[in-house]
Amino acid sequence: MNVPKKPRYEYAKQVGRTFLKSLNIKSYPIDPIKIVYLMKWKFEIDDLCGEEGYTLYNPKTKNYCIIIDNAQGIKKQRCKFTIAHEIGHIIMNHYTSFDISSLTDDDFRILDLEADIVAGEILMPYISIRKNLNRNILYLANKFDVSYSAMETRLKFLDLYNLCYKNNSDIMSK
Ligand SMILES: [Zn+2]
Repeated sequence: MNVPKKPRYEYAKQVGRTFLKSLNIKSYPIDPIKIVYLMKWKFEIDDLCGEEGYTLYNPKTKNYCIIIDNAQGIKKQRCKFTIAHEIGHIIMNHYTSFDISSLTDDDFRILDLEADIVAGEILMPYISIRKNLNRNILYLANKFDVSYSAMETRLKFLDLYNLCYKNNSDIMSK
């Protein structure tokens, strides 16, 4: 199978939402490392020489191992996003649908964009965002334990940015 020419955003959203629903996680913030263990995937920390993380797939055992660079604190927001991104690659079946060793830079860029969408669905679930649209962005970023800019990007992607309060003073004036 060839890598699609454009990222499958709608499909990635649905894959992320269905996956999260199947895990039945109800408390926030969501810890992606917990998901890795729930799925019985492996998790390692290593010196990746500047790369943030990657995933190894073993076709024989059908198991995955997510490896994260040791320069990142594993509780930090950036690292959590990296792990959620790797989970995105796994549940989008990128490792089993495509021959990873023969992909071009453009192919990787498209698959990375898809993995980013899944990461957003996992860390900042749509259902929970919808329930909290009367809150400001900082509140949401804290609730999901993501950076302010990650929260902004996610709201813009979902077309909900204009519905959210930008800061506390907005709330005061409304
Ligand atoms: Zn990636």
